[in-house]
Amino acid sequence: MTTIQFSPLAVPNTLGLPAHAEQGVVITQPEQLVPILTYADERRLAVSVLGSGSNVVLPRKMPSITLLMRIPGIQVIDSDSSYRRFEVGCGVSWQGFVRFCLGQGLGGGIENLTLIPGTVGAAPIQNIGAYGVEVAEFIEAVEVFDRQQHSAGRLWKPATECAFGYRDSCFKRQPERWVVTRIRFRLPTSGRVRTDYAGITDELLRMGVSLTTASATTIAEAVARTRRRKLPDPRRHPNAGSFFKNPLLPKLQYDGLVARSGGQGQSAIEQIPNWPQGPDIKLSAAALIDQTSWKQRPAERVAVWQRQPLVIVNRGGADAADITQFAQAIQQSVEEKFGVVLEQEPQLLG
Ligand SMILES: Cc1cc2nc3c(=O)[nH]c(=O)nc-3n(C[C@H](O)[C@H](O)[C@H](O)COP(=O)(O)OP(=O)(O)OC[C@H]3O[C@@H](n4cnc5c(N)ncnc54)[C@H](O)[C@@H]3O)c2cc1C
Repeated sequence: MTTIQFSPLAVPNTLGLPAHAEQGVVITQPEQLVPILTYADERRLAVSVLGSGSNVVLPRKMPSITLLMRIPGIQVIDSDSSYRRFEVGCGVSWQGFVRFCLGQGLGGGIENLTLIPGTVGAAPIQNIGAYGVEVAEFIEAVEVFDRQQHSAGRLWKPATECAFGYRDSCFKRQPERWVVTRIRFRLPTSGRVRTDYAGITDELLRMGVSLTTASATTIAEAVARTRRRKLPDPRRHPNAGSFFKNPLLPKLQYDGLVARSGGQGQSAIEQIPNWPQGPDIKLSAAALIDQTSWKQRPAERVAVWQRQPLVIVNRGGADAADITQFAQAIQQSVEEKFGVVLEQEPQLLG
C-alpha cells in the first residue's frame, strides 16, 4: 500500500486570508492523485483543489485534504502553417504561458489575457476572460481526473464537452468531481490580433500605436498598462479580482425591470451599460455597484476598490466571514435598487 505524505500548509491566496491546511499535498505529477483520492474516498474526506488561490475565499482551517496543483511543463505537440499545439501542466503560471506564446510569435487573442493571475490548470475552471477574449477559444482538450469514475483514470475531455460559458464550465459546476492535470491548447500562427475591444483601442491610441500595425506584443503591453492602472496589485492590496460576474438577464426580465423602474424615481436600469449576449442582456456589474453608495462608505477592514468597484479589497485583518458579509451587503443593495441579483465569482471553500 502506498503511504501518502501529508504536511501542514499555509495556503496561499491573493485575498491575504489566514488559511491553514493540516493535510496538504503539493501535486507535481498526475500519478500522485490516484492514491490520495482513493484514500479520501475510502474515508469520505473532503478534498480542496487549488492553484495559486487568486479566485477563492478560504476559511482559516481548510476542510480535510488540500491539494496544491503544481504539475510543470510546456510541450509543443505539433505545428503546421496555421496552428501550433501545446500541452501545458496545470501548475504553470498563466502569465508564464502567455509570455511563452508571445515569445513564439503567437497571438490570436491570447495576448488580451495578459496579467491574469493564477495557474494554467485553473484557467478552464471559470473560463478566464478579459478584453473581449475567453480562454475556451484556445483550448482543444482538458486532461482531468474524474472522481466519479476512478477506474477510468485520467482522460482527455474535449473542449466541446466542457460546457464553457461566461465565467463558467462543467468543472466550476461540479468542483468535487474534477481535478485538472494538463491542458492542450491550439493557437493560430497567423499573427492575427484582436483590437476590437474599446479599452484596448483607447490604450493603443494613448501609446501612439496604429491599430492596423499593432502586434500581439504591443497589445499585451496595452492590456498590461490598462490593468495596472485600474486593478489593485494583490501584493499591496489583497484581492481576488472581480468579485461579481456581470449579470445575464433574459431579455423579457430586463424589459420588465426597465418598465418597472420608469417613472418611480428609482435609478433607471437602462442607464446601466449593457450588451446583448445571445438571447440575454449582459449588464455591467461595476456600473450597478457604482450606483449604490459603496464607493463612498468609509473604508474599514474590507472595502471596494475606488477605480474598479467590482474588486473587494482586504485592507488588513479580514477573514472569510468579513469578506462574504461585505459581499452580501453589496448584493443586497444592488438587488434592492435594481432588482438584479449579482452572482459571486470567487469560489467559497470550506
Ligand atoms: C488582481 C486579479 C485580477 C484578476 N483578473 C481576472 C480577469 O481579468 N479575468 C478572469 O477571468 N479572472 C481574473 N481573476 C481571477 C483569477 O485570476 C482566475 O480565476 C484564475 O484562473 C485563478 O487561478 P488560480 O490558480 O489562482 O486558481 P485558484 O484561485 O487556486 O482556484 C480557483 C478555482 O479553481 C479550482 N481549481 C484550481 N486549480 C484546479 C485544478 N488544477 N483542478 C481543478 N480545480 C482547480 C479551485 O478549486 C477553485 O474553485 C483575477 C484575480 C485577481 C486577484
